[in-house]
Amino acid sequence: MVLDKEEGVPMLSVQPKGKQKGCAGCNRKIKDRYLLKALDKYWHEDCLKCACCDCRLGEVGSTLYTKANLILCRRDYLRLFGTTGNCAACSKLIPAFEMVMRARDNVYHLDCFACQLCNQRFCVGDKFFLKNNMILCQMDYEEGQLNGSFDTQVQ
Ligand SMILES: [Zn+2]
Ligand SMILES: [Zn+2]
Ligand SMILES: [Zn+2]
Ligand SMILES: [Zn+2]
Repeated sequence: MVLDKEEGVPMLSVQPKGKQKGCAGCNRKIKDRYLLKALDKYWHEDCLKCACCDCRLGEVGSTLYTKANLILCRRDYLRLFGTTGNCAACSKLIPAFEMVMRARDNVYHLDCFACQLCNQRFCVGDKFFLKNNMILCQMDYEEGQLNGSFDTQVQ
């Protein structure tokens, strides 16, 4: 997985000093022995949770991730905002949550995974060939073989 720039925010477990702090999650006063400090706010250990999986962030690590007003654990952050890589067909980035097709070291959008000569889509179990980094259907591959347009190297 590739990320341009991780947007991790440190969390600190601190003992409250002085005036009781209000929790940024539930707005109640924090009377616990420890509280979490993150994003310049104070939180109950129970209130600083991942918006996706509900895990208590203070228990998973010392970093949380924020994006688009969500507070997330690293796993969900990567799942939602990380990327799988660039599609070998259209060269656009593929977000990590999207289904992809893989062939050798290449990844493809599902929509991009088609014969690059005749645009035939493949179903599970269909044969496809990878030639000069092009996806080919059997027909186009065999035609290319007959014309001698490429040497033998079969997926
Ligand atoms: Zn709270
Ligand atoms: Zn999570
Ligand atoms: Zn693509
Ligand atoms: Zn084809």
